[in-house]
Amino acid sequence: MMLLDGKKLRNEIASELKTSIDAYVSKGYVSPKVAIIQVGMNKESTLFIENKKKFGQKIGVEVVHVHLPYNIPEDELLKEIYALNDDNSVHGVIIQMPVPKHIRREVCVEAISPLKDVDGLHSENVKALWVHRSDGIVPATTRGILTLLEHNGVLIEGRNVVVVGRSSLVGKPTAMAFLNKNATVTVCHSKTPNLEFYTTPADILIAAAGVPRLIRSQHVRPGQVVVDVGITIEEVPERVAVGDVHFDEVADIVHAISPVPGGVGPMTVASLFQNLFDAYTRIIKKG
Ligand code: NAD
Repeated sequence: MMLLDGKKLRNEIASELKTSIDAYVSKGYVSPKVAIIQVGMNKESTLFIENKKKFGQKIGVEVVHVHLPYNIPEDELLKEIYALNDDNSVHGVIIQMPVPKHIRREVCVEAISPLKDVDGLHSENVKALWVHRSDGIVPATTRGILTLLEHNGVLIEGRNVVVVGRSSLVGKPTAMAFLNKNATVTVCHSKTPNLEFYTTPADILIAAAGVPRLIRSQHVRPGQVVVDVGITIEEVPERVAVGDVHFDEVADIVHAISPVPGGVGPMTVASLFQNLFDAYTRIIKKG
């Protein structure tokens, strides 16, 4: 069995990014800067932001944590976003999810300049993926999955890919990205009856349902490549991150598998900073 090691690849990407950023800075350009807006004080969100800060520090990116009060009115939040759009020293703007109920997520995402939307959620970037235009920004998890597979020599064109999950954040963009790479794609979801009927024949199986250990021995076959996107935090008997794939049951059957933790998670962080670097170079070229 081949382990699709996201941590190792994340570190390789970090050193590549650092070299590329150093080259720009040595030519006199400012360092890349990303602003992460957090509304309220969700503990998990703060942890995610800390991880991004650490990664940014390693590669020479300034990560600014814009912390706003939980009860901030939506129009005030929008003003913050517009100010970051207008700030030439900022190359990426992220709204850390979740946001409080009185804030309309879609409205805020649409307020971000598509050029700085390094999460790839603005409708302009969604459209770019939809029509297979290369100047858009692909959501980081989707980019991370593709990079992990391509780096490990997994052929995508012509393969039978099954994505379990159809969210706008993960399932749908991932299915579209595989379609753009000439795979034949099937999307399964919570109302799909007889899940194994679809998953077992897959050449590449992407599990992104957020249901711990959903994918078991009956859902896979020898020769298959399995990518586990799911992350559920279980507290008992101890605090651990659990994937959508029952690793111990599946690992001995399939050809390759990504672990949780250490698979798609680290790739998502690395890919976010690749998106930021792309935005940075595009903004520099635009002048
Ligand atoms: P979501 O809840 O928005 O969507 C889940 C999707 O799975 C839905 O489309 C639903 O129809 C489908 N689903 C639910 N139960 C199912 C079942 N029993 N069988 C088949 N399909 C089922 O979640 P999301 O935002 O897409 O995230 C999915 C998982 O990926 C979560 O565990 C999340 O934490 C994780 N995630 C990981 C990363 C990463 O970097 N590794 C990034 C984003 C999300």
